[in-house]
Amino acid sequence: MKLTGLGVSPGIGIGRALVVTRGIRSLRFRIPDRRIDAELERLDAARGRSREQIRQIKERIAAALGGDHAYLFDAQLLMLDDPMLVDRAAAIVRDERLNAESALQRALDEVSALFDRMDDPYLRERKGDVADVVGRLCTNLASGGDPADLFRDVEGPLVLVSDELSPSLIAQLDFQRLAGFVTDAGSWTYHTAILARSIHVPAVAGVRNASGAVAPGALLAVDGSSGEVLVDPPADVLRELEARSQKRRAYEQSFDEYGALPAVTMDGTPIRIEANVELPEEAVRARQRGAEGIGLYRSEFLLAGTGAAGLDEDAQYRVYRRLLEAMAGGRVTVRTFDVSEAQLGLSHPGDGEPSRTPLGLRGLRLSLSFDDVFQAQLRALLRAAVHGSLRVMFPFVTGVEELRAARAAVTQARESLRARGMSVPDVPIGIMIEVPSAALTIDLLASEADFVSIGTNDLIQYTLAVDRTDDRVSRMYEPLHPAILRVLRQVAKGAGRRGVPVSVCGEMAADPVLVPLLTGLGLREFSMSPAAIPVVKQVVRGIRIADTVRLATRALKAATAADVEKVLADSLATVK
Ligand code: PEP
Ligand code: MG
Repeated sequence: MKLTGLGVSPGIGIGRALVVTRGIRSLRFRIPDRRIDAELERLDAARGRSREQIRQIKERIAAALGGDHAYLFDAQLLMLDDPMLVDRAAAIVRDERLNAESALQRALDEVSALFDRMDDPYLRERKGDVADVVGRLCTNLASGGDPADLFRDVEGPLVLVSDELSPSLIAQLDFQRLAGFVTDAGSWTYHTAILARSIHVPAVAGVRNASGAVAPGALLAVDGSSGEVLVDPPADVLRELEARSQKRRAYEQSFDEYGALPAVTMDGTPIRIEANVELPEEAVRARQRGAEGIGLYRSEFLLAGTGAAGLDEDAQYRVYRRLLEAMAGGRVTVRTFDVSEAQLGLSHPGDGEPSRTPLGLRGLRLSLSFDDVFQAQLRALLRAAVHGSLRVMFPFVTGVEELRAARAAVTQARESLRARGMSVPDVPIGIMIEVPSAALTIDLLASEADFVSIGTNDLIQYTLAVDRTDDRVSRMYEPLHPAILRVLRQVAKGAGRRGVPVSVCGEMAADPVLVPLLTGLGLREFSMSPAAIPVVKQVVRGIRIADTVRLATRALKAATAADVEKVLADSLATVK
């Protein structure tokens, strides 16, 4: 069987399917033989706990509402002992080596199908009661439900098949055991895709109903470049895929040597190459791949891994210090939390329903309205600053007022540290340019910021009014749209005139085909996922600034994205 979707993280991964749906509330996988007895005991214990709970519920209802209302729970108690439910699930565990949750789900499906065929509407309605009992059994089976335990009982490399995948779930998993991701959801949020690419796990999204169609334990081959997922492929196909995967790795490794070389153009212009990092442990790899510094540490990933514990000042201080030390003097740019209110897990004081739109309370706006959270992060950053070369960057800035407010918050954090008797070094303060209003006022912002970094991921979607996570319009997300080229040119010029360093840290910077164009538009600093660094360095070492300026001039005259693409394609031979 072949499933198709959208490749969102390249490479080929082969492993056994672990099906995770509804967050992690439903896990389906195949268990090893040696675990069968333990799984049956788990099922039985869940039945015992459920029986006890239902008895208690029955007593409470009988006491509060009378015995007439309690009969429902007698029916549920009988269901627990019905051979078609838990006993049937036990047989599935034994015969098919499925985990207890999977087996219960199957037994429920079988019983439900039986109820559907019944003529009596009263009996048909009992289907809901069976589902209720199975839900309770599954809750009682959950062993705390910690995603970190997810792989404990499963063997070999795994492909996570899921209805949707959050960055926080990925962040908690054992990356070594992950061979691929397959999701039903049409398109991924940036952060999930970015994280998959950072940890080099091939991924295919938008495979409608993969989580329903793929059997737990099936052998999957995920091609994150073509967007294809093969289910139980024949041995010869598998061999061919493994060979392709090895070839791809060898090809990637062939660029590795460029990581150690300086990124200087053929005519002697140095280009600064830094890394985007989501997890502190990636810093070491970033250096190995040739990053001069960290151009973007997405600090909100602290929250993805640990939840609200990540807000603690000391916990943050340790992470920032670790990053700075790992870079051994190399510059580290930490972006303050770029999350929405819901992701922060706090609600805004005085507000009823929190805003859930990407244009709502997020990024710097959110930090400015949660003073305690913002101050704790700024204090942690300023304390860490003594351990290396730190820069602080604010996300989602829309104008000068916000930058001023953020600077005032830094001053406040500095003063509270002084009051603790600490001395704090000066730290450059910069902003992301990812909202059109910031790009259009670059001259004003650059007069008050120490540096700026262009976040093309958001800048493109807000300039073009295209939600990249909406698969009905994501095709229109076009980095080569003439409007994007102009806005990049304007920001490069505006910042350059005021002598303010400007970098690009969105995904455009990681695309080797676009690097000559960006250079021609006047950009000299790029930050990207560590994996992309060697290839980009190789491109940089093969270009001349004068050629790239000519290329950019031609591209800026093109009327459509397709025309810009043609300009790039035509020039590839000459630029090299
Ligand atoms: C961007 O918007 O380009 C960016 C780098 O930030 P993020 O991808 O985290 O939104
Ligand atoms: Mg952004």
